[in-house]
Amino acid sequence: MAATVIDGKEFAARVRGRVAEHVTRLKDSHGITPGLAVVLVGEDPASQVYVRSKGKMTVEVGMKSVEHRLEADTSEADLLALIEQLNNDDEIHGILVQLPLPGHLDEDAVINSISPEKDVDGFHISNVGRLGTGQKSMVPCTPLGCLMMLRDHHGSISGMDAVVIGRSNIVGKPMAQLLLNDSATVTIAHSRTNNLADVVRRADIVIAAVGRPQMVPGDWIKPGATVIDVGINRLDAPERGEGKTKLVGDVDYESCAAVAGAITPVPGGVGPMTIACLLANTVTACCRAHGVEEPDGLTA
Ligand code: NDP
Repeated sequence: MAATVIDGKEFAARVRGRVAEHVTRLKDSHGITPGLAVVLVGEDPASQVYVRSKGKMTVEVGMKSVEHRLEADTSEADLLALIEQLNNDDEIHGILVQLPLPGHLDEDAVINSISPEKDVDGFHISNVGRLGTGQKSMVPCTPLGCLMMLRDHHGSISGMDAVVIGRSNIVGKPMAQLLLNDSATVTIAHSRTNNLADVVRRADIVIAAVGRPQMVPGDWIKPGATVIDVGINRLDAPERGEGKTKLVGDVDYESCAAVAGAITPVPGGVGPMTIACLLANTVTACCRAHGVEEPDGLTA
């Protein structure tokens, strides 16, 4: 039987709808407008596209959007001063510094200068520690989106075998932590894992966050398993002898979809959920800052 396709685009629209409803409630009942500040240093074309769509969607759900575009040679002191100003700005509830930063800036120092309560990317060391110890935290957006889709599809993932391929700080590790917090039995695989195919074949849930186009073939997938493909890889036209760049994930979609019970496509799977979760985190941060009730189901 063909796999159920988990439609991230549709799911993300639903999440944004719930965020928008909550924003309306915050405005009407409390006179509060959640605000998100995005800081972009330099002119990386992909980052510019992300920042633009983050700003557009922030406004669409009724929140205040502030963008700070800084020159590529901005000093660390100037960037830290801007973050300090945003930390102290009562109209800003979420701060996101678009990564990667130019090489002369210390990414860890910059991220850790954001007030943890406003760290809507969930990368601050304090949020990482809180997630790891099961405390209330800001949760990284991409893994949060994956978790929401898994909970929606399965109800509960308690007791299921989950394999996360990839151990980055922004996807693999927090993903594994979230799955563990939901009582899945979790394996983290990486480039040194022995017999990766056999490890993946055990999994009821496979999360691929590798950055290698179509690396996971269908014959690694246990029949009926759920496959969440985080990968976003651009296959350039010349490589394929065709006229257009194509986006593919880290799993080979056709062969995996033939065996899996459910699968996320690329594009239109995890990708759209990431921005939706950024907006969800901003509304959550705003509610926490003002001590008002958080929306249900928009965080871990
Ligand atoms: P990183 O490059 O930081 O991490 C990749 C991980 O994959 C590493 O842990 C690495 O292992 C592991 N890996 C590499 N090669 C292999 C291999 N042959 N076998 C097993 N494991 C391997 O990537 P990210 O986590 O930042 O991103 C992963 C993917 O997700 C990328 O395609 C990225 O574009 C995408 N992404 C998508 C987002 C979205 O919104 N949908 C958001 C963020 C990322 P090791 O640690 O041993 O080197």
